[in-house]
Amino acid sequence: MKAIESPAPSNFIRHIIEQDLQSGKHNGRVQTRFPPEPNGFLHIGHAKSICLNFGTAENNNGRCNLRFDDTNPEKESQEFINSIKADIEWLGFHWSGEIRYASSYFDALYEFALQLIRSGKAYVCSLSPEQAREYRGTLTSPGTDSPYRNRSVDENLDLFMRMRAGEFADGEHSLRAKIDMASPNINMRDPVIYRIRHVEHHQTGNKWPIYPMYDYAHCISDAMECITHSLCTLEFEDHRPLYDWILQNLDKVSLHAASDSRDGADAYVLPRQIEFARLNINYTVMSKRKLKELVTNGYVHGWDDPRMPTLSGLRRRGYTPASIRNFCERVGISRSEGVVDVGMLEHSIREDLDTRAPRAMCVLRPLKVTLVNYPQEGVEVLDLACHPKDESMGRRQLPFGRELYIDASDFEEVPPPQYKRLSLGTEVRLRGAYVIRCDEVIKDAAGVPVELLCSYDPATLGVNPQGRKVQGVIHWVPAAQAIDVEVRIYDRLFNRENPDDKSIGDYKECLNPESLVVLTGCKAEPSLANAAPEASFQFEREGYFCADRFDSAPGKMVFNRTVTLKDSWAKISS
Ligand code: ATP
Ligand code: MG
Repeated sequence: MKAIESPAPSNFIRHIIEQDLQSGKHNGRVQTRFPPEPNGFLHIGHAKSICLNFGTAENNNGRCNLRFDDTNPEKESQEFINSIKADIEWLGFHWSGEIRYASSYFDALYEFALQLIRSGKAYVCSLSPEQAREYRGTLTSPGTDSPYRNRSVDENLDLFMRMRAGEFADGEHSLRAKIDMASPNINMRDPVIYRIRHVEHHQTGNKWPIYPMYDYAHCISDAMECITHSLCTLEFEDHRPLYDWILQNLDKVSLHAASDSRDGADAYVLPRQIEFARLNINYTVMSKRKLKELVTNGYVHGWDDPRMPTLSGLRRRGYTPASIRNFCERVGISRSEGVVDVGMLEHSIREDLDTRAPRAMCVLRPLKVTLVNYPQEGVEVLDLACHPKDESMGRRQLPFGRELYIDASDFEEVPPPQYKRLSLGTEVRLRGAYVIRCDEVIKDAAGVPVELLCSYDPATLGVNPQGRKVQGVIHWVPAAQAIDVEVRIYDRLFNRENPDDKSIGDYKECLNPESLVVLTGCKAEPSLANAAPEASFQFEREGYFCADRFDSAPGKMVFNRTVTLKDSWAKISS
């Protein structure tokens, strides 16, 4: 894959890792992790993090774990776990060893919480959630100590164990780290590290009525897996002091004992959190909450709808792993937030498919053409290259006969200026075949052309004789042998650059009503009859298309438009 062959561009994270390798900080180890929460499908933003975490490990002979950050069971499910695994594998990455789950550390996390309580670093707080919010203070005013802050160690141990035993209702108590209610960083104002939630967990069932908070579980999970560099997005920058505080306030020996030291991590060094800017792309939304809303409320046909920025949506649309990896590499890693033009993503797939997708012809809006001077029962078989520049892709046979279909948009009875397609009395070349001239138009009662009577010039197969210059070339299929296919024309899901712009109102206001147009009764050349699911083609003059991986089958082919041949939106917005 291209992304791997070319040397990865330098960035500040590579730089840090090089320094750590040089100084021997982690005994030469590089251990990263990708930590999705299984509360939705992965999107293209996650691909950036996946490429960074797995790529960093690959480039340094290191390892990358896949860890499900499953501390929030209400919103999580096995369906999401399965889709995340499939998407990472599809992108072509391999996680190190077994899949990890934060939930498999729940016992250890509980023990560490007891340890914090014993050392006076954590306490059970019995403020209601509303009271706790008031006590927390604001960005400009300090918080106030909870009246429960000075409970004795014994009382805290007793209450926490009873929380664990399920004696209390949701929200009745919480366990908080005892840090500093006056800290300018709100994350350090005695953050909650355990809460009571009587809900079943997809991995641990009903074992736990209490669940650790993300900030508490994440750093300990990293340490237990001997992660060297914990790469995350910038919104966690303000959480880093808490990440460090928790690890520094646990006993090193027991932390080390709990850790996964099979990887040669003998000298115990704490993981380092490093933040990078998340990926944002225009004309789409990337928040899982919004993507979920689009799915749940039927604005799209599921998480893998080809209009979704999810990896499974992009896959179904016809994006390839190589195109996504190349895109992520081009976007690069930095600490400054920005919005990437979706044109760049589209460029990546065009670039990949231009070299790899066989060419084919498919008429989206068929208009019948009869070649009046072609023999009645005559059929000849034309031999066309599958790719104009790559002979190794082979050749395909295409029957030619008296009756054909061309696209209705390739005919104008009265041609506008500069028109290079077919009009009454003019000539056009049929791709890979003859030059034809339109002699007569047959129309229906409403005046719409339903058939063109044309004549072909037998001397023009693949050549322009007598110095005759025919400017236009149009695509076609033979009427008798063409197969009927369904074509789904996908376009951008939103018609505004920034759907999250509050001045628009709700982001759903700018859903593009034409993001999906289903065309039935399209006519495709017969070589497409057995296209494998997910096979990509360039339909000449129409764009890149792929056979839908679920709905397409022999006898009932369905093609999705992946992307147009050129960036048609660039013209509109300029
Ligand atoms: P949630 O609000 O559910 O936490 P999330 O997008 O952060 O949403 P996670 O499953 O927690 O989802 O993300 C897994 C990893 O992917 C995290 O390390 C996160 O920082 C990273 N990630 C998420 N979105 C992006 C993005 N747009 N660009 C780059 N990395 C991202
Ligand atoms: Mg997250």
